[in-house]
Amino acid sequence: MQVYQGKSVYEGIVIGRIQIYQKKEQQVKPNYVTDVAGEHRRLEAAVNEVTTQLTKLHEKAKAELGEEDAAIFEMHLLLVKDADYLGFIEKVIQTQMVNAEYAVAVAAEYFIARFSAMDDEYMKERAADVRDVSDHLLAVLTSHSKGVPASMGRLCDALKADREPVIILADDLAPSQTMQLDREKVLAFVTVYGSVNSHTAILARTMNIPALVGTCLISGETEKGQSPHNVAGALWMDGHLAIVDGDSGCLYVDPDPKTRQCMEAKLAMQQEKKALLLALKGKETITLGGCKINICANIGGLSDLQQAVQNDAEGIGLFRSECLYLEKDTHPTEEEQFERYKTVVESMEGKQVIIRTLDIGADKQLNYIGLTKEDNPALGCRAIRACLKHPEIFKTQLRALFRAGVYGKLAVMYPMITSLQEVHQIKTLTEQVKAELAAEGIAYAHIEQGIMIETPAAAMISDLLAKEVDFFSIGTNDLAQYTLAIDRQNGELDEFYDARHEAVLRMIRMTVENAHKAGIRCGVCGELAADPAMTEFFLDIGVEELSVSPAMILPLRKVVREMER
Ligand code: PEP
Ligand code: MG
Repeated sequence: MQVYQGKSVYEGIVIGRIQIYQKKEQQVKPNYVTDVAGEHRRLEAAVNEVTTQLTKLHEKAKAELGEEDAAIFEMHLLLVKDADYLGFIEKVIQTQMVNAEYAVAVAAEYFIARFSAMDDEYMKERAADVRDVSDHLLAVLTSHSKGVPASMGRLCDALKADREPVIILADDLAPSQTMQLDREKVLAFVTVYGSVNSHTAILARTMNIPALVGTCLISGETEKGQSPHNVAGALWMDGHLAIVDGDSGCLYVDPDPKTRQCMEAKLAMQQEKKALLLALKGKETITLGGCKINICANIGGLSDLQQAVQNDAEGIGLFRSECLYLEKDTHPTEEEQFERYKTVVESMEGKQVIIRTLDIGADKQLNYIGLTKEDNPALGCRAIRACLKHPEIFKTQLRALFRAGVYGKLAVMYPMITSLQEVHQIKTLTEQVKAELAAEGIAYAHIEQGIMIETPAAAMISDLLAKEVDFFSIGTNDLAQYTLAIDRQNGELDEFYDARHEAVLRMIRMTVENAHKAGIRCGVCGELAADPAMTEFFLDIGVEELSVSPAMILPLRKVVREMER
């Protein structure tokens, strides 16, 4: 048995097999080959296999989703047999005398760059098809090569295969990769890098998946400062049985019988505890002295919505709408967004749903929006700034939101506000959008509009901002990041990142006071809201709503119901 230590970002114990995920660029290396004809045969076999798989997928998609949605596979089938594409790969094998995998990767880069540079939007989007088909080919080629794990290709593709759920072991996972995962196929994440406050960590908590970050893949005692191996040095673990203990932060590979027994007992205890919490469903979140607070859910995708409903959320306090954008390789249309927002609002059956407008930038990057690379992305063109700089994207989202408002109790909130001017600009745009919808005869609702208080600037002018909006929601993750000047992505600084720092607490208190003076309500939706040690503080200062990951709702309700005050 080997034991590795990481930092836990979400508790829970899972037992399962490891699947290593490496980024494509880390994996595809040129290997000089003497048997060029052999590489051509490998390529031909891979193309045939991918064709068979795609044909099956196409049939399945046609039956389950309909012709239109299945068309993507038709496109991929054409591409995998395209003469230019295959000819390019064959030429690279022939002239450079390299392995087929490398030739596929070179062809992918070439065609992706070519399509991306085209003016025509339709042709531009073909770059994503080249990436998908090339990853598919790489996945097949790699699964057939000796000694290399079948982990090539896009993570979600690997997980779509007919397999048991796995423990993902990766150097790092971007929020977009995390979002594309099929939760049913993932037992836990373990990453070498990453911080406990990153969005990937938050998504793991929201998805109710045990996760470790900053995991040192050097077994036994580690020297301080010793750099962790990355997964390239741990390929042998692929497919091995392992246990992730999200409480202690340990990863056990090939656990011995005693460890397994002990972990199984711990797991049974956790499940018992969870079952007891279910008795709190349908009960009020109120202290023994009669002090009430709403506990709502933070969600990203539809599976989180299900979790929110199952855990008896009193509303959705934060729907991270960027998750819809991160799930995709192209911009979600107004119709797609409208359908998603409508589903969320209708599923909550009259309870309030707060949808946050697109919060991209920093670690949440979207290739198709074309944000420029920045030296300090956390201080860069993110969230509301990106939306105000791309009004066409913002207005599409606003149209979908106002339309969805007709179907339930929807409110919208804007992230990363720092000034009154931004709020005024937003108001101008929302008025324009409503006027356009009215002129087109499309039904829309006048929904409540709030802002996130997650920058020190917003907290400091919260008295002025409170006069302009219907509610505040405090984002303690970013508020701590910007107040303490600590990059929340930097795992090396986790020990300095303290969301309970007095400076942060003073800003929270001040924001709530200013909200109440102006007669508006104030919630908290950052991770601090789920910290039971803070619940009393939030009740004392009069916070009306805590919004937390769905799995934290019932534990927090228990804390509140046992309070004397
Ligand atoms: C926050 O900053 O506290 C917040 C809720 O937003 P996010 O974590 O998505 O940045
Ligand atoms: Mg934030």
